[in-house]
This record gives sequence, C-alpha cells and structure tokens, in this order.
Amino acid sequence: MGQDNWRKLLCPKCKQLKTTCTCSTEPSAPSKSTVVRVGRETKGRRGKGVTTVSDLPLDENGITELATKLKTRLGTGGAVKDGRIEIQGDHRDRIIQELEGLGYRVKRAGG
Ligand SMILES: [Zn+2]
Repeated sequence: MGQDNWRKLLCPKCKQLKTTCTCSTEPSAPSKSTVVRVGRETKGRRGKGVTTVSDLPLDENGITELATKLKTRLGTGGAVKDGRIEIQGDHRDRIIQELEGLGYRVKRAGG
C-alpha cells in the first residue's frame, strides 16, 4: 500500500525524488544523476561494429540532435534505434570525451 505513495514522490522521467529532480526546472541541461552508457556491438555486424550510446536522459528529438552532433564531430555515420544512438565503428574513447564535454556522466560498458 505504501508503494503507491512512494511512487508519487518519484519523477516518472528520471526516477529521482521530485524534490531533487531537475527535469522541470532545467529541461535542456543533462540530468547529472543519469549515467549514460557507451558500449560496442559487433554481433551480426561486419568489421568494427558500432559504438552504442544508451540510457540517455533525453527525449527522441534530443537523442536525434545529439546523434547528429556526434556524427558531425566524428565524421562518421550512425543512426538512432530504440532510443539509443549507434555510431559506425569503434569510437568509444572519442564519444565518451564528447559526452563528458557536454556535461554527461558516462560509463563505459562491455569490452
Ligand atoms: Zn525528473
């Protein structure tokens, strides 16, 4: 029974307590409490595979915008699929650098 009350205290977007969440006050700033995951996928792909960026605290437009920015900065192709960014090739180091430069907390996932 206490679970519903507890849920009301949490922001549905960032799952933080509404008292500490910044979703409504700073819509354009990345949520500092969210850790973006940067990984690599080679399964079923040729060559170096793709670098994936997931757990982004952004809506679809924001993700598309960020994908475009990363593709331009890295000079490579990529796509947005199921709320994640896929960049052609293994660019984890560069992408982590770019994301940290934009104020995100980043975790390198996988090998
Ligand atoms: Zn929030």
